Amino acid sequence: MKLNILNLVTDEKCYTYLRAVRWESGILCPQCQGKEIIKNGRSSHNEWIHRYECKSCGGGFNDLSGTIFSQSNKPLKVWIIALYFLGLNLSNRQIAQELDMSEKTAQEMTTQLREGIVKKSLIYDLAQKWKQMKFM
Ligand SMILES: [Zn+2]
Repeated sequence: MKLNILNLVTDEKCYTYLRAVRWESGILCPQCQGKEIIKNGRSSHNEWIHRYECKSCGGGFNDLSGTIFSQSNKPLKVWIIALYFLGLNLSNRQIAQELDMSEKTAQEMTTQLREGIVKKSLIYDLAQKWKQMKFM
């Protein structure tokens, strides 16, 4: 049996990690930056995604809202592991092999992650704080 990292990392850990980094200084409404937030259960299509409601603007959002992960059909753990491999300087070909995807898909993901690292502080933080998080 081939050892595959996707089988070792759980979705639960990845969402816990994302929340720990994204909401480190408290949950913020992505629409109005409001800080008074009510927890609003879980997503109906993914039990690991927490939902929230903003008291200031009444808007709803979840753990992924406003991130590059929200428009993706790939599970969060694929992104997180790709980010980890990027940090180890793996090539797109190596990442594609490890994550069982085409090299083109791996390239698209790493391009987005790299753009995210520059443009979005969230992704930058994810990369920086990776090592502080116990993963498995
Ligand atoms: Zn709001």
